[in-house]
Amino acid sequence: PLAALQDPTLLKTQALIDGQWVDATQRFAVRDPATGTVLAQVANLGAAETEAAIAAANRAWPAWRALPAKARSAVLMKWFHLLHQHADDLARIMTAEQGKPLAEAKGEVGYGASFLEWFAEEGRRIYGETVPSTDPSKRFLVLKQAVGVCAAITPWNFPIAMITRKVAPALAAGCPVVIKPAEATPLSALAVAELAQRAGMPPGVLNVITADADRSIDVGKALCASDVVRHLSFTGSTEVGRILMKQCAPTVKKLSLELGGNAPFIVFDDADLDAAVEGALVSKYRNAGQTCVCANRLYAQAGIYERFVEKLTAKVAEMRVGNGFDDCVAQGPLIDDQALAKVEELLGDAIAKGAQVRTGGQRAVVPGGQGAFFQPTVLSNVNATMRVAREEIFGPVAPVFKFDTEAEAISLANDTEFGLASYFYSRDVGRIWRVSEGLEYGMVGVNTGVISTCEVPFGGVKQSGLGREGARQGIEDYVEAKYVCLGGL
Ligand code: ADP
Repeated sequence: PLAALQDPTLLKTQALIDGQWVDATQRFAVRDPATGTVLAQVANLGAAETEAAIAAANRAWPAWRALPAKARSAVLMKWFHLLHQHADDLARIMTAEQGKPLAEAKGEVGYGASFLEWFAEEGRRIYGETVPSTDPSKRFLVLKQAVGVCAAITPWNFPIAMITRKVAPALAAGCPVVIKPAEATPLSALAVAELAQRAGMPPGVLNVITADADRSIDVGKALCASDVVRHLSFTGSTEVGRILMKQCAPTVKKLSLELGGNAPFIVFDDADLDAAVEGALVSKYRNAGQTCVCANRLYAQAGIYERFVEKLTAKVAEMRVGNGFDDCVAQGPLIDDQALAKVEELLGDAIAKGAQVRTGGQRAVVPGGQGAFFQPTVLSNVNATMRVAREEIFGPVAPVFKFDTEAEAISLANDTEFGLASYFYSRDVGRIWRVSEGLEYGMVGVNTGVISTCEVPFGGVKQSGLGREGARQGIEDYVEAKYVCLGGL
């Protein structure tokens, strides 16, 4: 699939340190999850190269932070336009290594690029403050300054957007970055880094350390242990988030964490059922269910339960599974066999405890495909003892639970250690307020299954993470407030 790139020079297999493409003695294979084909062999770096990248970033910091915000913004805007110009190629690279349907990949390129534009704009609005003085001989000032070298460890489910969402606010604020992309999707990261070079990013300001799963652990340790690195931003599993948090304790590093979710999707009796079904489809099955904001537990009120399940089942049964490059494919493969095994395990547990499979329930057979394809699945007759009620499924399985009252729905929805996204459908304005306020989540979608956009704060409460990305708030993690007391007036 990569032979068809319009600009083959976007296909990079070396890491980027201090403005140079660098190789390593070892390489690791990047595979197409739909076919199993090896797409490329990428440089496999370790702790020593990570140290070199951190040092390069530190050297680049003084000049980068000294630039006027408008000059940093100009580089980000140029990068933004380059992502759009090369959107077709970037989408191809993404579908090849990640598996999502090409239209979804193209959508992600636009979403990913939007953070570059947004933070290019926001970077020019990092205002300080003057505070009314309590002493006539003094004046109180608050300056906002870049925190310093930042590290970003990113996942494979959004290979471009999870990088730009972290890197754009850091760069706009005046911080250089060291990025460690997911081992499954380094090619998208490197293509985007190549475009950053073309946009005029100075050497050392943006570095990309590629590594396989084992070496990612060493790279992570080096990033966490460094006292030059002032901030670590991570998106991935709660389990790895906890490890990184622990590793960052000795250097008291600032942390932004976007971790797991267990999103409830509640449909009340008074909802527009067709709209709720549409919302459930995009929220649950986008990216084959592999997003941290995917509906994980669907709750339908008793009065509409059966009708909702039937309508959802009918739509899901029509979805086509296949290679993301084929037209009309609504769902690609899961990222790998391990992901498939986890879905099968959770499904097996639910069936053993009495769940009824309404559609799907098995691996999907795709002609020419060797990948981890799974049929989009709907389950009814599910209950709270099943693992699907507690664990993030990260696959195309929708368990639909039944509930009776509004209070019960809120209580069930909140009964989890996670708190990222939540969704509900209702037409009653009182209920909309009550439930929006009652859900212990960082984000609530009301009568919609799609909530993410660069202008709003994305993030979770409880064990779903720390901090917010995107929005006006997204830049705050990358600046320090420095108080200056001006005396002797
Ligand atoms: P996912 O469930 O999305 O695969 P992970 O949390 O396993 O999420 O991985 C997200 C990112 O974290 C990837 O870039 C991966 O290489 C990296 N990673 C995984 N384990 C560690 C670790 N122990 N230290 C540092 N990075 C890690």
